[in-house]
Amino acid sequence: MLAISAPLPDELSRSFLGRLMRMNGVAGEKDMIERLASFLGVAERDRRKVTVTELLSMAARMGPENFVCQHTLIPLRRSITSYLPDLAHGAPGSQGVLFLSGQRLIRPIPYLCADCVRADVDRFGISYWHREHQLPGVLWCARHRTPLRYADAEDALLWPTSQWVGDSREVGAEWFNELNEHKVVRRFHAIIDGLMDTHRPYPVPHVSARLRQKARAHGLLTYSSSKPPRGARLLSDVVRDGFPHDWLSTVFPELVAKAPEAQLVQMDGVLYLPNSSAPATVYALACSVLYDSADEALTDIATGMQQGMVIASGGRRSKVSDEVYRSAYLVHGGVYREVARQISVTPQSAAKRLQQLGLPDLKERGWGPIRRALFAFFVSGMRLEEAARIGGISAETLEAAIRQAGAGFVGVLREMDATTSCRSAGKPRVQPLSPHQAKSASESWQVIASLSGATKRSCKSGIEG
Ligand SMILES: [Zn+2]
Repeated sequence: MLAISAPLPDELSRSFLGRLMRMNGVAGEKDMIERLASFLGVAERDRRKVTVTELLSMAARMGPENFVCQHTLIPLRRSITSYLPDLAHGAPGSQGVLFLSGQRLIRPIPYLCADCVRADVDRFGISYWHREHQLPGVLWCARHRTPLRYADAEDALLWPTSQWVGDSREVGAEWFNELNEHKVVRRFHAIIDGLMDTHRPYPVPHVSARLRQKARAHGLLTYSSSKPPRGARLLSDVVRDGFPHDWLSTVFPELVAKAPEAQLVQMDGVLYLPNSSAPATVYALACSVLYDSADEALTDIATGMQQGMVIASGGRRSKVSDEVYRSAYLVHGGVYREVARQISVTPQSAAKRLQQLGLPDLKERGWGPIRRALFAFFVSGMRLEEAARIGGISAETLEAAIRQAGAGFVGVLREMDATTSCRSAGKPRVQPLSPHQAKSASESWQVIASLSGATKRSCKSGIEG
């Protein structure tokens, strides 16, 4: 027999687990999970298929979707994702996600509010860890307007927050004073709150397209470039300049460390890697500088979507199959403009689809110059320059046609690159700094800056009027 209680409002699932352990006098986490499984009637053979989050939701007598949305950080973590974007948070099929992330924090250390500790004890007789204090960039309690404290201890979440008030560091009142009125920081918090309210993900390609459109309107560079054109404005620079650096170090320190005008794939990639998700924090940073308000950002992301699903607008034509494109290409001798006319699409969309199929634009019917050159190169095995001469075209024109023919392979290459970038973008390589680490990093930078004559934005200089 086990004593079970309900999770408290906004209580983190791991805090709830710790409470169950204490109520039942169980010291080991693993032991508690086993006892919970057997108490809830999970058969031994099924034990490994059921995640801790699901067990806790059963103990809480809540459906897994409700439990995940109310007691874990998954709604934020998976608010924008390319991994199973159709899967609602906690829905059947989420075991892999719950196994990996169900109990995880987003920041490396847990935060608490000393005033909430007192209020919780008054109201519930026990203090607990709140989800809202664990969100990225949150350094003070929205309810009490006081700086948070943070506990640098493994398994702190399994104990009541009251035990950590004396054994934790206070964020420092100066952060509150400096950041509370910062418009862009406030916008970031509001966007994070909005993403926490999601019940299912927004797919990355959709969000990426919205952000790209907005970035273009701001004149930002929206493609990958190892050497961005002179004067090009990068999203990563706009974010870096839009936030106080001390605060930014507690969220995404690599942005502060990066050189101006150098692309940072983890940030700039949200505009040009439509298939690899970045952490929600990165999207929230991007939205904070691209949009004038959190509402505008959240509405724009939701536009054209029921979360997780693109809404088909009334009367939109159904997608033309690859087969139709291939046969139209054959019938029209490889001339793009004629294919477009037959299928009734714009020449641009016909070109995009045909290139995805590896079918280059032959420009004219019959044995025109490009077809002659391509035949010489691909079928007769001639060298590029020779084949171009046979076609009577320049080597550059032939190269362009070869590139179109190889677009299918290029797609695969890009996908490989995106996967690699996604892995590195999935998590900032440098752990977010704690507030005290951020301040001391800031001090050492200031020493370096004063020696080199450079300047650095501090919290204060970052504040908007
Ligand atoms: Zn509080």
